[in-house]
Amino acid sequence: MDKYNNFFGDFGGRYVPEVLRGPLIELEEAYISAIKDPKFLSDLKDFQKNFIGRPTPLLYAENSSRILGGGNIYIKLEGLANTGAHKINNAAGQALLAKRMGKTRIIAETGAGQHGVATASACARLGLECVIYMGVEDIRRQRPNVYWMELFGAEVRPVKSGSSTLKDAVNAAFRDWTGSCKKTHYLLGSALGPSPYPDMVREFQSVIGNEVKVQADFTIDALVACVGGGSNAIGFFSPFLEEEDPRLIGVEAGGRGEGLGNNAVRMNDSGKTGIVQGYKSYFLLDEDGQVLPTHSISAGLDYPGIGPQLAELGKRGRIEFQKATDNEALEALKFFAKNEGLIFAMESAHAAAAAIKLAKEMEPGRNIIVNMSGRGDKDIFISATVLDSTNWKEFLLEESRRIDAQS
Ligand SMILES: *Cc1c(COP(=O)(O)O)cnc(C)c1O
Repeated sequence: MDKYNNFFGDFGGRYVPEVLRGPLIELEEAYISAIKDPKFLSDLKDFQKNFIGRPTPLLYAENSSRILGGGNIYIKLEGLANTGAHKINNAAGQALLAKRMGKTRIIAETGAGQHGVATASACARLGLECVIYMGVEDIRRQRPNVYWMELFGAEVRPVKSGSSTLKDAVNAAFRDWTGSCKKTHYLLGSALGPSPYPDMVREFQSVIGNEVKVQADFTIDALVACVGGGSNAIGFFSPFLEEEDPRLIGVEAGGRGEGLGNNAVRMNDSGKTGIVQGYKSYFLLDEDGQVLPTHSISAGLDYPGIGPQLAELGKRGRIEFQKATDNEALEALKFFAKNEGLIFAMESAHAAAAAIKLAKEMEPGRNIIVNMSGRGDKDIFISATVLDSTNWKEFLLEESRRIDAQS
């Protein structure tokens, strides 16, 4: 085996307690051997095709491009993947890997619940026991996803420590793994965490970019993706990282606007270098180096850190970082719904907002591809509350009365 590099420039690494070194090295070796094994790759390909529904289409957004009057917009429809987002690409890859390693139990963290749903789905399909750690605050806010996870047979374990959200769920999952790693695989959900996760998650998500490379029968001038932890972006960008073109644009959550606590912008001097949850990267930190709260209308972009490879690519300028506010994302959601009949996930709508701006600036004949990392059905409780509040509230009250009457 070639020497495996745990770092991306200054970022990444494996800053974990001694007890987790063993399981991470075991995972690294298993991953490196699996991605060279034709049997593993053909199992993965079959899973991608028949279970996930790959390849996902690359659609020309004809009406939108005409209305905006600049560059052409194409949309990579990851939202058409089973369970509604790109998260399943990574969940499937890691679940198959765990099975190959002889593990029988999967644990995962989830914030908004999308990664939990994808993981629980892959585990149901592969017959693996599944435990999802989720903050009690997130369980309260994301009831529909808890329902789906349990329907897939997963156990959702409430986490009550700290702020009872995603970072606490990650800590709880690592704690579980410390005692259970013999039979358990920790299926981490984004391109971050201690090595080998950032590398492995990018590899499993690179199917997005590899398909685009085949599907695009035109010169690509720019790729645009939203960035939470960074898994959809790095997977989408991955085949182009070593090339000078196209422009690669990562879009962070601008939230309510400027000011710490109002957004989740970590790049462009907003974040500080730190080591959190096992890896070195840019984070939103206070003076003491403690992680700060973030805000975004989209639960998936609401994260204080960014994947180490994205941090490095941003630092050396290969990836440009922009931001879109809550309102810009909502406007983009409405724009593509009306003009293309597509519902972007609230996360992906941030990328859509940046693509709209970019298309207007570009000459006709230039081509932008935006990654629709997920579809927006899951966001109905957020989008309808904002865009159709009176009717939506009435509907929810009526539903609640109906349930009362039935029981
Ligand atoms: C989770 C999620 C994201 C953010 O995660 P990344 O790791 O940055 O891709 C983006 N879009 C959707 C639809 C998600 O569910």
